[in-house]
Amino acid sequence: MKLLEEMILNQGVILEGNVLKVDNFLNHQIDPGLMEKIGNEFYEYFKDKSVTKVLTVESSGIAPALMTAAKLQVPLVFIKKSKPSTMNDPLFCEVYSYTKQTTVTLCMERRFLNQEDRILFIDDFLANGQAFMGVEKMIKETKAQIVGVGMVIDKAFQKGHAYIVDQGYDLLSLAKISSFEDGVIEFD
Ligand code: 5GP
Repeated sequence: MKLLEEMILNQGVILEGNVLKVDNFLNHQIDPGLMEKIGNEFYEYFKDKSVTKVLTVESSGIAPALMTAAKLQVPLVFIKKSKPSTMNDPLFCEVYSYTKQTTVTLCMERRFLNQEDRILFIDDFLANGQAFMGVEKMIKETKAQIVGVGMVIDKAFQKGHAYIVDQGYDLLSLAKISSFEDGVIEFD
């Protein structure tokens, strides 16, 4: 997605540990116009997949996932990173957080997914795929099916991209980064 690539090049900052900071428009301040265009791109690609629910992980996945769910006219469920006391029958999963460098517990109410559901998983970033693998485990428990994976920014030189493709999932990455060599962002 050309506009997204330009915004990454113009406003993105590469931090230590191959972390790309894009808090001008995605991870802190959010650009609604960009989110709408992102929703449209995912909608156009996945619209024939009979998606019944969009799933993401809080918090930065919510904006692009909500715009996509609105276009698809299906609910959005966001997985939480801590268990609220109000949750009745939670599904849990421990994952290693790339940016926090610690283990976090992903958690969602079981009743929001069932075996009839066709899930589109959307997230802000794909790095080593830890978040995706955790979500995949939780979805498997409910017997729902993942019919598509949409990543806003995919650092395809890390492990997550190969994992998702190798598992045979239909993956659309809107900005696919092939390297950060010498501080220069290269797109695939
Ligand atoms: P993974 O689980 O694929 O290793 O990492 C994905 C998650 O870590 C994303 O949901 C995102 O929150 C965070 N993340 C991974 N890489 C980056 C990055 O380069 N920049 C930012 N801002 N977040 C990242």
